[in-house]
Amino acid sequence: MQFAKRLDKIPPYLFAEIDRKREELLAKGVDIINMGVGDPDKPTPDHVVKTAIEAIQDPSTHDYPPYKGTKEFRTAAADYMAKRFGVTGLDPDTEIVSSIGSKEAIHNIFLAFVEPGDYTLIPDPAYPVYRTATIFAGGDYHTMPLVEENGFLPDLSKIPTEIAQKAKLLWINYPNNPTGALASLEYFKELVDFCKKYEILLCHDNAYTEMAYDGYKPPSILQVEGARDIAIEYHSCSKSYNMTGWRVGFVAGCAKGIKGLGQVKTNVDSGIFKAIQRAAIAAFQTSEADLQALMSVYQKRRDIVIEGLRSLGWQIEAPKATLYIWARVPSGYTSTEFVTLLLEKCGIIVPPGNGYGEYGEGYFRIALTVEDDRIHEAIKRMTEAGIRYQ
Ligand SMILES: *Cc1c(COP(=O)(O)O)cnc(C)c1O
Repeated sequence: MQFAKRLDKIPPYLFAEIDRKREELLAKGVDIINMGVGDPDKPTPDHVVKTAIEAIQDPSTHDYPPYKGTKEFRTAAADYMAKRFGVTGLDPDTEIVSSIGSKEAIHNIFLAFVEPGDYTLIPDPAYPVYRTATIFAGGDYHTMPLVEENGFLPDLSKIPTEIAQKAKLLWINYPNNPTGALASLEYFKELVDFCKKYEILLCHDNAYTEMAYDGYKPPSILQVEGARDIAIEYHSCSKSYNMTGWRVGFVAGCAKGIKGLGQVKTNVDSGIFKAIQRAAIAAFQTSEADLQALMSVYQKRRDIVIEGLRSLGWQIEAPKATLYIWARVPSGYTSTEFVTLLLEKCGIIVPPGNGYGEYGEGYFRIALTVEDDRIHEAIKRMTEAGIRYQ
């Protein structure tokens, strides 16, 4: 029995070696602090859970759901876009589709638009699915480096014209995982203009749009005039409302993009349990006060990490959004060497920057997914191990 060749093309799981070491240390009884995964450790808000319980008890939620999401769900998503971003008038029938969390819908849009010979334009470092989905679709990817000097924004003038002409999708994600970088509406406008020029579907992965601090509110790319002709935006309940396990989100924007995605999905999945769609509606309607309460937990953790890193010699700014701190490794180390050191000497798990692409080399990522006292403990262990940035 042989695997299809496409599986050979999927890059090896970079965290395999870290996982192996973690098992080894766990077996020795080491108390591990896991700041590796971007998975909120706090429960889903009460109002969402209560809505779900009631919905499960209602038998009308038990049959096959509509492929695109219930009308109620799509209308609530459109209302959320209007209320939160001022993006009004999205048509729930043609400009919104539900997703089983963003991941599947990211993968599936490639199947709708990319074929052999086509290019995708994807950032590096980035969420790995943009790259693997290109491979699954049989296309080629051109990476857009995210470098600190450029605010971790792709430099569109560096994309070769021949590549742009063959490109079908361009991916961005702001607030950004893993760098924590932000993008302005002016930058979004540049992207819209670029994608219109080359007729590229602009895909914005906006998974962290509610995970922002210090009063900052990330924009939607659909706020740019005319963006709806060329751009789609991915929203997910996962990170914002501590709902990673529920698997629910939506995609909004360009009707052609939504149609293509819907056509693939209709043939691949059978929608989201209606009770979960109702729960998601409750999540979209989370009050500003409740949202602030959820985010203040991460903001406080962020401040402890930043203060700790600074006390160890790092010169680093606090990110205004996301669940992550993206920090340089001290000189003399590769990313992999440094995260191995953190694991072996301090029992701290963090992913190496190069796990997100070659331009992530030289960095590591800290996820704000452990309690304050564990962060203090992590900093204490680093201090005692003599780890400093110089
Ligand atoms: C977590 C994450 C996702 C996936 O979210 P789901 O909705 O849970 O599938 C997508 N994109 C980025 C950048 C993420 O960090």
